[in-house]
Order: sequence, then structure tokens, then C-alpha cells
Amino acid sequence: MSVYDLLTYEIIPQEIPNVIRNCSKCKRDTEFYCSEKFRINSNQKMVDVWVIYNCTHCEGTWNLPILSRVHVNKINSELYYKFMDNDKETIWHYAFQFTHLRKLCNEVNTNIRFELKEERLESKSHNLIIRFYSKYDFDLRIDKLLAEILGISRSNLKKLEIDGMLMLNPNINMKKKIIDNLQVTVAGSLYKS
Ligand SMILES: [Zn+2]
Repeated sequence: MSVYDLLTYEIIPQEIPNVIRNCSKCKRDTEFYCSEKFRINSNQKMVDVWVIYNCTHCEGTWNLPILSRVHVNKINSELYYKFMDNDKETIWHYAFQFTHLRKLCNEVNTNIRFELKEERLESKSHNLIIRFYSKYDFDLRIDKLLAEILGISRSNLKKLEIDGMLMLNPNINMKKKIIDNLQVTVAGSLYKS
């Protein structure tokens, strides 16, 4: 691998996770994809907002509840415009609220395509420092991604960690998923001639 003192990676998901739940038309559990559209219903100033999902088999609809019977005056007007505008960033924000989704669905398919935006910076450290930024929270294992970036096997990665040559901050298990602002320090002597 090439040697750089400080590498930052922004993890950018390329798709919204599908959800698995019962489809009333198919009469069985199917996968639903996000339509990236809001549905807004307003009745005497009481507003309901959903994100629309569609069954991958029959296009049947399932609505993910976002707001339920909220008085229009209590909704931030900027947010309300984003609902009306089908603002992409706002939809993605809700579509990645896995705790909420898991309460309403059987499963959330978090194994999604992503891109890494890499930036190489100089630092005065004698170690290689890797920082991860992730605005969205999805299941991407630390060891899997690190092994890919460093070009080594997962077992070698584990060995480096045991030998104290690789440190995570915060100090979490490498089998856990990547979190925002995770920093990995790799002892410099390994990668410098
Ligand atoms: Zn269906």
C-alpha cells in the first residue's frame, strides 16, 4: 500500500436499505424499497407524514410513519417545505433510522452499496492515522473495511491489534460496525521504509 500519514474516509451510502415486512397484496413477507417520496395528509390543520415504500414484487405501498396527527403550527416550516419538496437528505435521514424501522418491519437490509471518499493529509505523527466519517449508521464491520484499506487479511489485522500495533479510538471491538469519527492508529514502523 502507499504510505500517507493521515487518511480520512467518508463512508457514503449509495442506496437506501430495503425493509422486509408483510405485504398485504402478496400475502407474505416481501422486500420493500423506498420510493424517496413523502406522503402528507392534512386534515383540519392536523398533519400526518409518511415515507412511501413499495413492494418489490407487486409495487404495493407501505407507509413509514414520520409524524402522526401533529398540528401544522407545531411543525418547523423549513421541515414542512422539505416534506413537500421530497427533500432527498430528509428522506434519507428517516430511512436510516433503523431502531424505528425495526419496530415496524421484520428486518432491515443494511447490507447496502457504499462509496469511500478518501482524503490524504500530512501529519507530524510517526504513525499512520485513519479516520472514518459516517453520517449514516449502517452495518459495516470495522475489520472488513480496514482489511480492505490496508490490503491485509482480517487475521493479520487481529494480530496487529493483539501486538499493540493497531489501536482504535474509541476502543471498540473490530467486529463492531463503523461509527462516525472512529480513529485507527497503525504503528508507523510497519508502513515506513
Ligand atoms: Zn407485494
